[in-house]
Amino acid sequence: QAHLERIRQVEPQIHAFITLTEEVALAQAQEADRRIARGDVAPLTGIPIALKDVLCTVDAPTTAGSRILEGFRSPYDATVVRKLREQGAVFVGKANTDEFAMGSSTENSAYGPTRNPWDLERVPGGSSGGSAAAVAAGEAMVSLGSDTGGSIRQPAGFCGVVGLKPTYGRVSRYGLVAFASSLDQIGPFGRTVEDVAIVLQAISGHDPCDSTSVDVPVPDYQTSLTGDIRGIRIGIAAEYQVPGMDPEVERVVDEAVAELQRLGAEIVPVSLPHTKYALATYYIIAPSEASANLARYDGVKYGLSLQGETLLESYLQTRGRGFGPEVKRRIMLGTYALSAGYYDAYYVKAQKVRTLIKRDFDEAFEKVDVILAPTSPTVAFRLGERTADPIQMYLSDVFTIPANMAGLPGIAVPCGFAHGLPVSMQFMGRPFDEGTLLRVAHAYE
Ligand code: GLN
Repeated sequence: QAHLERIRQVEPQIHAFITLTEEVALAQAQEADRRIARGDVAPLTGIPIALKDVLCTVDAPTTAGSRILEGFRSPYDATVVRKLREQGAVFVGKANTDEFAMGSSTENSAYGPTRNPWDLERVPGGSSGGSAAAVAAGEAMVSLGSDTGGSIRQPAGFCGVVGLKPTYGRVSRYGLVAFASSLDQIGPFGRTVEDVAIVLQAISGHDPCDSTSVDVPVPDYQTSLTGDIRGIRIGIAAEYQVPGMDPEVERVVDEAVAELQRLGAEIVPVSLPHTKYALATYYIIAPSEASANLARYDGVKYGLSLQGETLLESYLQTRGRGFGPEVKRRIMLGTYALSAGYYDAYYVKAQKVRTLIKRDFDEAFEKVDVILAPTSPTVAFRLGERTADPIQMYLSDVFTIPANMAGLPGIAVPCGFAHGLPVSMQFMGRPFDEGTLLRVAHAYE
């Protein structure tokens, strides 16, 4: 009830949700009360959670922020949704997102932008801007987002909350509306590292429904929250000095580094020479995979269906009106990069560079336990400030994209303020070593 009241108060200004599911939430809350009375309590029993609207749910529409999925209702729950449901979680609504998770500001949502709770004239980041803003504004206790190139960490940073992208394969993608399947991962947002650890625990693990989910044991993440990071080696890469970096953000992150040293961590310089190609490589690979994944929206199988004289006309009508401009841009980029004659020059080349990026990380992690970088080069920007310039928009993910290219886990943690707005730093770790990320972030926070 307290969360629903808070939603009534602030949602008209923030617009963190595409769909609110008050009735679902109240029924789940009553069921949670019954569970608690029976003594059958899981860690998330009765906890109000927001779900990014790219996660399929049986009891609410799933739009992926797109007109093309208007009216679509999934016949099944995403595996992560099923797992939270089994613990007795309470779903308050489907959180706003850039269309098909393509964007860095939530301005590409067909349902209107979300606003940053710290400053309503600014963006919450994206694409999981609704999930980040809902937690920052107290509309949900925790939430789930998805991260293909930074879409959990960057909005967590802009909204001053904690966000974690797990290792590729740690969390099942079954029932996640696909953007770029080799990069997408689902992960949690919370106001503390401990909250994030609890949700990660609940959603992790192998799933026979997702062949890329990995069958490795899931450790008890609570035991990582020791508060002790003496002797932990933290790598800092010279390559993370990029043009466009706000000097105030840099100063705040430098102070955080000094604090980590005071806590007993050792700072070690590392080199990631191919990281400067990560953004360019991403904008070949992600649109290529997206163009294939989005071929399924043909006006027959899902949602919006506009009829033309011929089958081709129907496709053109449905896709022409159903997709927004950024999605069309990505489909064009992707089909171009994958077309005969260009495939080797662009797509295959990008895959080779991706391997080099991954190898840099493998070498660095022989010397250090985690790598630290800013989460984003700037604080939250103003609504409309970057919509006319896609390259500027893409640049807000320079620090987050490398972890997706290499499949590594990353956590964004608030570390201070610049220009009166939250600043965030990011720790990246070895594959399946989310525990160390949580340990370092928890000791700092
Ligand atoms: N901002 C990046 C993009 O637009 C990353 C999005 C994401 O992680 N889903 O593709």
